[in-house]
Amino acid sequence: MRQVTILGATGSIGLSTLDVIQRHPDRFRVFALTACRQVDAMLELCRLHRPKYAVMADEPSAARLAKDLPADWGIEVLGGPGGLVQVASAPECDTVMAAIVGAAGLESTLAAVRAGKRVLLANKEALVMSGKLFMDAVVDSGAELLPIDSEHNAIFQCLPPHQVRNFSGAGVRRVLLTASGGPFRRTAADALADVSPEQACAHPNWSMGQKISVDSATLMNKGLELIEACWLFNTQPKQIEVHVHPESIIHSMVEYVDGSVLAQLGSPDMRTPIANGLAWPERIDSGVAPLDLFALGRFNFERPDLQRFPCLRLAAEAFDQGGTSPAVLNAANEEAVAAFLRRELRFTDIPVIIESVMDALPAVGADSFDIIFEKDGESRALALEQIRRHAVSVSGLG
Ligand code: NAD
Ligand code: MG
Repeated sequence: MRQVTILGATGSIGLSTLDVIQRHPDRFRVFALTACRQVDAMLELCRLHRPKYAVMADEPSAARLAKDLPADWGIEVLGGPGGLVQVASAPECDTVMAAIVGAAGLESTLAAVRAGKRVLLANKEALVMSGKLFMDAVVDSGAELLPIDSEHNAIFQCLPPHQVRNFSGAGVRRVLLTASGGPFRRTAADALADVSPEQACAHPNWSMGQKISVDSATLMNKGLELIEACWLFNTQPKQIEVHVHPESIIHSMVEYVDGSVLAQLGSPDMRTPIANGLAWPERIDSGVAPLDLFALGRFNFERPDLQRFPCLRLAAEAFDQGGTSPAVLNAANEEAVAAFLRRELRFTDIPVIIESVMDALPAVGADSFDIIFEKDGESRALALEQIRRHAVSVSGLG
């Protein structure tokens, strides 16, 4: 019986994880659930899943939850970042779903890694920020890191199990990383300045949290995934080629030196990679409907347009610069996306802000997590300053 902690339980990935778990009461037990501020959603999840712990990252929300939870449910409430770390590393738990969005998830994800858990990694930002330090921590603790991001889970499934970090040994020539292209794949460059948060969040194939939806629309999501793939599979961007595949059925492919190309296909539903990670190396029912290839008819592929979507180029540059650059890129992106969602920034200003913050904060060696957190903070402060300057000129935005 696996005892599972879900970091970010009230989010899109968290809820999909609980959906898979409740199909297999013989295999999984919910040990702890965490969220930030959604007390009512957490209360309902506690009623359904009866975890041992419920954690609210926001302390006042933890106090509210403690007051509202019926005492006879026997659930212990914890608050603040310390609570997240405690349930991510608790000895009674063996599996941690890391599904907090953004840099806010790094500390607790890392706690799970350092405690040697099976870590199901959805929170790509944690790995993008800290790269080598994160992967070193995985090796040092013997944690079992399994990729949940659909593309990375697909690549993982297409690689020989014992050579996922040894492309030359496995005979891999390159990875074909697929991308949906987002909601603005066909939008003219001059129309992008006026797109709204609602349009950006209306993803054609996937239903996801707001931040990753905007990242998909700017192609920053693919940029973060390029960096994520380099760290997970111990490779370089030149071995990874992004293929826009608007149907989102092929979740990525691995090409071998003999010309074979292995692909993983499935409906665009995160319960498939989640079930794969939870049960690995076994297979369990995820609740995902089988593919109907006759109904789909055809698959399409195109090259990404780096002119209209400069975020993909910026992410590749950040990885090439190395050191603290990916952390700076990630933090500036988080602030720019949040400002866009608040209607304080145009869609097309997102890459402008990120690029100028990257220019102002050149890479230094990422020798410790302290440096990563320091650069994350500096990048956010600079991004906010620039957003305020840009905001004046977009006060007319609907
Ligand atoms: P979401 O916005 O739906 O949920 C985020 C969760 O994190 C919520 O439970 C929220 O309470 C919690 N959270 C937010 N801020 C927090 C903070 N400061 N401290 C503690 N907890 C906090 O996000 P999502 O779409 O589920 O994405 C989660 C992660 O998974 C992201 O890193 C995303 O890139 C990745 N991912 C998501 C999908 C998807 O289909 N949604 C696919 C691949 C990867
Ligand atoms: Mg993905």
